[in-house]
Amino acid sequence: MTAAAEGKAYDPGKVIAPGATIGVLGGGQLGRMLALAGRAMGYRFVTLDPTPDAPCGQVADRQIVAAYHDVAAARQLAEQADVITYEFENVDAGVTSLLMAESYVPQGSRLLYTTQHRLREKRAIEAAGVKVAPYAEIGSVEELRQAVQRFGTPCVLKTATGGYDGKGQWVIRSQEEIEAAYAELSKAGTELVLEQFIRFAKEISVIAARSPQGEAKAFPVAENVHVNNILHLSIVPARAADEVLREAETMALRIAKALDVIGLIAVEMFLTADGELYVNELAPRPHNSGHYTMEACRTSQFEQHVRAICNLPLGDPGLLTPVVMVNVLGEHVQPLLDWIVRPESEQVPGVTAKVHLYGKQEAKKGRKMGHVNLLSNSPEQALRWIEASTIWDAKHE
Ligand code: AMP
Repeated sequence: MTAAAEGKAYDPGKVIAPGATIGVLGGGQLGRMLALAGRAMGYRFVTLDPTPDAPCGQVADRQIVAAYHDVAAARQLAEQADVITYEFENVDAGVTSLLMAESYVPQGSRLLYTTQHRLREKRAIEAAGVKVAPYAEIGSVEELRQAVQRFGTPCVLKTATGGYDGKGQWVIRSQEEIEAAYAELSKAGTELVLEQFIRFAKEISVIAARSPQGEAKAFPVAENVHVNNILHLSIVPARAADEVLREAETMALRIAKALDVIGLIAVEMFLTADGELYVNELAPRPHNSGHYTMEACRTSQFEQHVRAICNLPLGDPGLLTPVVMVNVLGEHVQPLLDWIVRPESEQVPGVTAKVHLYGKQEAKKGRKMGHVNLLSNSPEQALRWIEASTIWDAKHE
C-alpha cells in the first residue's frame, strides 16, 4: 500500500535532495539554526513570519512577512517550497491542511494535533507504553476538588492548550487554593488537567529523529536545569546511571515510532531519586535542550531534522565532548557582550565557549536571545566557567 493510501503525509520513497527549497513556518531562533545547518548542506530556505527581519529571515534566502494564520501567505510559502516544516507547534490547523494540499509536509498534521493538547498527548504517550505522571481531566471545580483529594498536595493544574515555559499552570499547595486556581486557569477557555506532583531528582530530555524510511536515532540525554520555568542549563552527559540513560533513549525512540514521527521529537522527562522516569511533555521540533548538539555531537539536531524531513540517511548523533549549554536571556546579553570583547576571556582552562546569538533586536528581560555551548573535559569544569564569568549573576524574576 502507498503512503498516501495509508493516510500518511509522507512518502517513504521520496527524497528531497540538496538544492531544493525548504519552507519554514515561523522565523524564530529554531528556524534560524535550522536554516544555517540546511544551507551548509546546500538547501535553500524560505520562511514565513510576521516580524520583518526575523531571526530566521536574516539567514534564509527569503522571508514572507505575514501572520502565521494568513492563508494567502501560506499559499505563497507552499508555492516556493519543495518541502515544508515548522518551528513551533501551535500551527493553525487550516494552514496545515492548506500546506499539505499544496506542498509537501512530511511531518503531517496528526502529531501537531496530538501535541497541541496535553490530554491527547498524555494518552498517546501511554498508548506507546510509556509512563506519564498520574493525571485527571478536570471539567468543574468539583472534579478538581475530588482529584486534589486523590493526588494530595502539592499537585499541578494545567491548561490543556496554549501553555509554555510554565505559563498556564498553577501548583496547588493547599485545599484553600482550589477555587482560585480553577477560576484563574479556566479563563483560558480550554480543558484543564490535574497532575500529581512528581518529586523529581532531575529533569532530563531526549531528542529523537525519525525519517520516512523509518530510520530512527536518539541524541544523548540532556540534564536540564530551569530557572523561573525557563531552561537555564543543559548538562551532557546527564549525571544519572547508565541504565537510566539507556531507558530514557529507548522511551523516546518508542514514542517516535508509536506516534509515527517524521523529523524531531523532544521528550521531556522527570527522573526520580529511585530511577523512575515519567514523560512530562513532547515537542515535535528542534528543542532548546538540544542546542548543545551544535558543537558537541557529530550531527546537530538541526542537521538531523533537515536529514529526517528530506529523507536522507540520519547522521550519527554521538557525543564528541562533554558540554554544558547555558541560555542567554535579555538580561545576560550585555554582560556576555562585555565578556566577548575582553582579551582575557577564557576564565577556566580547558573550557571552550561557543557563543550563539539569534539576531533579535530587543533584549527584553527573560527573552531567549542566544546560548553558549561550553565544551570541556567535564561538565563540572563548564559549570565553574559559568560561575566565574558572572554573566548569569543577573537573574530574571
Ligand atoms: P511544563 O510546562 O509542563 O513543562 O512544566 C514546567 C515546569 O513545571 C516543569 O519543567 C517542572 O519543573 C514543573 N512541573 C510541571 N509538571 C510537574 C509535575 N507533575 N510534577 C512536578 N513538577 C512539575
